Amino acid sequence: MASDPDEGFTVVLTGRSLTAMTTTATIGPTTGITSLPFEPYRDRPDDELRQRILAVKEELSDALLILGHHYQQDEVIQFADMRGDSYKLSQLAAQSQTCRSIVFCGVHFMAETADVLSRDEVAVYLPDLAAGCSMADMADLESVEAAWQDLSDLVDTKDITPVTYINSSADLKAFCGRHGGIVCTSSNARAVLEWAFARRSRVLFFPDQHLGRNTARTMNVPLEQMPVWDPRRPLGGNTADSLRSSRVILWRGHCSVHQRFRPEHVAQFRQRFPASRILVHPECTMKVVEAADLVGSTEFIIKTVQQAPAGSVWGIGTELHLVNRLAHEHPDQTIQFLSPMVCMCATMYRIDLPHLAWCLENLARNTPVNRIRVDSETAHWSRVALQRMLEVN
Ligand code: SF4
Repeated sequence: MASDPDEGFTVVLTGRSLTAMTTTATIGPTTGITSLPFEPYRDRPDDELRQRILAVKEELSDALLILGHHYQQDEVIQFADMRGDSYKLSQLAAQSQTCRSIVFCGVHFMAETADVLSRDEVAVYLPDLAAGCSMADMADLESVEAAWQDLSDLVDTKDITPVTYINSSADLKAFCGRHGGIVCTSSNARAVLEWAFARRSRVLFFPDQHLGRNTARTMNVPLEQMPVWDPRRPLGGNTADSLRSSRVILWRGHCSVHQRFRPEHVAQFRQRFPASRILVHPECTMKVVEAADLVGSTEFIIKTVQQAPAGSVWGIGTELHLVNRLAHEHPDQTIQFLSPMVCMCATMYRIDLPHLAWCLENLARNTPVNRIRVDSETAHWSRVALQRMLEVN
């Protein structure tokens, strides 16, 4: 299959993430509860839940660290001790020295990464186990191992570096660790690909085809050498020759949020705001990235807006909650959502006040729920791949 930047535009946002379903929940020893009870959470007013959350924060003090992803809704992120994108939050989890518990207001793979990188005595919790990532669910270990086996019939896999975006399950990070591979984020994808090409001539990049393609394009890798691997088709839908001549094999995965931005949204925005600049995330399609003025990670987007002069006009292509927050925090600039459609991370949105209050109160009562625990073998090899990434940085 040729590298088609626009293929696979079907948007599927599942209500319940597959990765989330593979998690073992630590349930309350006496209650046996595995999901949020109606009473006394769903039936309580927001004000009461806010007070109860603050009470637990005060009680647990430094023993508790609440981490909040930038895409999180305001009613939840206001309680985060620290905010960041997936990479920054994983660093914060690794650096935490005083806390005993991390409550992660993000999605499942982020909580897994926090568990892998944090000290052994730290336990990590996800307020709603169904808060997964549709992109992470598009690559699973079985499919990646099958692809690796197929590729081994055509090329020497010792000459392929597996690179996984941090938005992936821990067992895929462990796969990379075991096979001389590495993790990347949207901030460091180029540095990671340079690291990979300095060692081996080929890369298998998963799960986000767009980040892989957009990054490799900045390194002048031609599209013809970036076949897309569809795990449902023999040889990923490619010919043996195209795989033999490939440099970056892109997994057929995408972010259901960022793939909704279209090049025509950029054109329409420029027409409405001729003085605007377009700032997008590299999980957007190649055509959107090519039409934009600036491309970068969530942290890059935030810093760019923070450093812009008053009067700047932005069309921003990333998750809706973040764009709205930026607009609110910078009233001296015009900050608008790039798409006329709503593009928000529906799974992250599952973490709400009732779930956060439920998770925290059970923690305070010593009947913890929704602990995310990566087994020691998987954690070891995930850490190997993550450490390689931290060293590249
Ligand atoms: S925004 Fe996209 S990549 Fe990020 S957590 Fe949501 S579905 Fe996953």
